Amino acid sequence: MKLWNKYVQYYLENFSPSDVNKDVGLPYLRDKLFISILLISLPIGFLMSAAGIIASIASKQIIIGTYDAFAFILVIFLFFLKNQSINTKKILYSVNFYIIAVILYIYLGTRGPAIVILLSCSVLITLYQGKRAGLITVAVNTFIFFVMTAVLPFNSSDIKFFQDFSVESWLGVSVNMAAFNVLVVISISFLLNQLNETFLKEKTLQTLLKSESSQLLIAKQKAEESDRLKSAFLANMSHEIRTPMNGILGFSSLLGEPDVTNEQQKEYIDIINKSGTRLLNLINNIIDISKIESGLMDVNIKVININEITSYVFNILKPDALAKNLKLSFVNGLPDDKAVFKTDDEKLIAVLSNLVKNAIKYTDKGSVEFGYKIESSDSKDFSICVKFFVKDTGIGIPSDRRIAIFERFIQADILDVQAREGFGLGLSIAKSYVDMLKGKIWVESEVGKGSAFFFVLPYHSDVPEIKNAAVDVFANDFKQSRIKPNILIVEDDSASEIYLTVLIKNLSNKIYYARSGKEAIELTRNNPDIDLILMDIRLPDINGHEASRRIRDFNKDVKIIAQTAFGLEGDREKALKSGCDDYISKPIKKADLLFLIQKLCNI
Ligand code: ADP
Repeated sequence: MKLWNKYVQYYLENFSPSDVNKDVGLPYLRDKLFISILLISLPIGFLMSAAGIIASIASKQIIIGTYDAFAFILVIFLFFLKNQSINTKKILYSVNFYIIAVILYIYLGTRGPAIVILLSCSVLITLYQGKRAGLITVAVNTFIFFVMTAVLPFNSSDIKFFQDFSVESWLGVSVNMAAFNVLVVISISFLLNQLNETFLKEKTLQTLLKSESSQLLIAKQKAEESDRLKSAFLANMSHEIRTPMNGILGFSSLLGEPDVTNEQQKEYIDIINKSGTRLLNLINNIIDISKIESGLMDVNIKVININEITSYVFNILKPDALAKNLKLSFVNGLPDDKAVFKTDDEKLIAVLSNLVKNAIKYTDKGSVEFGYKIESSDSKDFSICVKFFVKDTGIGIPSDRRIAIFERFIQADILDVQAREGFGLGLSIAKSYVDMLKGKIWVESEVGKGSAFFFVLPYHSDVPEIKNAAVDVFANDFKQSRIKPNILIVEDDSASEIYLTVLIKNLSNKIYYARSGKEAIELTRNNPDIDLILMDIRLPDINGHEASRRIRDFNKDVKIIAQTAFGLEGDREKALKSGCDDYISKPIKKADLLFLIQKLCNI
């Protein structure tokens, strides 16, 4: 078999006809069969013609021997004929055998191999050329039989054929032969077609099976990946809830112990505080992501000063960087009076502070630098953009995780090797915000060297210039250069009231207290020296919105800051509509409240 394959290979490489079908299917199989027949004809043809020549010399039938020799030469010729189409070869090969058959018929009669050769030609031609060619051979065979019948009356004793049959019996034989011939050709071509159809069906099924199994493999890998992510997510979530809870519960019970020193008390409270903030972050992020997903997150575009935002983010996160001994710095791309453009400031702050927070979190030594530049944009939607950057010298992000980290609950470190706090929501929220602001966010990074996050936002310069806009509010906690305001705290919850008092006691001249909406209205009416009201919204009698509305009826100057714990989209608009000047959401951060008071009271 090996030898045979080498033989076929050799032939195909050196003498392959130009038009051999290369496609799979019946035409290809037919061409392949013909080439095999041709190849095998060389040794077999040699034996056959040698036998024929010897027999013809012995029986003095020279013509048979001569044609045998000629037929063999023709096979050799066909074998070595290069650049000839396979169809021509098939025709020449078939005609050759027909001539042999006719000569044998005439000179050896029905006892010679002529009938077998004619029938074999029919079978072979049906196999290597097709049903139509097969039926033509049947017609040719029948024609030969009937010509023989027709010439029978001209009896010639020299020719063998004429000595074997009478006209009637030969006619009978011919009809039988023709019928049998038709049967054979039709059966073979039917069988071939059936085999071919089965073969093609199997081929299609195989292709289908292959594609389905590869899809199955992909689905399996995805399922495994999602399983891993799910387990990582659950483990992470549980960790992110339990750790701060542990801190809060553990240290609050320690606070109750009798021998706690002042020093320890401070330390425990600090831990409780940090744990609470961490838990709150998780809750805020989950609320944000659900708002984004349910399409409830609105975009509030207004004129803002970018330098105010960079210094705000810097001041808020400076303590975190200091605690890790990292150098935190920022670079503004525009002077304060030019740094104005239109965007949603809350979302911009959220994105920038998230990226800086991450940069600090994932950097153990070195520096974190952020800032922005005005650049021409390659986006088709806007020609100039503000390009923000946050660069760190931290752990870096592997290249195969640089896209995934922007998805929900995905962290670069699935196996939790680095084990830093976080739950994989910050970047997906950042990306959603940047998308909402019609921008783009991406990361460049090198593992072990650091990461650089970039985002661009469209820059619209059609806004008025704001003078001295950037204010460093928190550098010295609070500037007390101006007269302190009188502040009214409207709050029904005593813990919140105490908390607010502690926050503002150093910057207020006098603090008034009201426990209900009605009380707040009365106090404001009777004390026109009140400069600012911190108005809770949920109050026992009339709510904070209604109270603010009624206060506005008689006092347009007092500043009102609404404080709510709902954290809903639209809170701000509702507050502004009812006459408040601004809005702050609970839990109130000291820095945020001081910033607002300073802004509203111009101190
Ligand atoms: P997380 O709460 O886990 O920080 P994020 O969505 O903010 O969630 O970030 C997703 C993941 O991206 C992080 O878990 C971390 O693996 C990776 N990552 C984000 N920022 C950085 C950075 N500056 N350096 C290295 N890895 C980062």
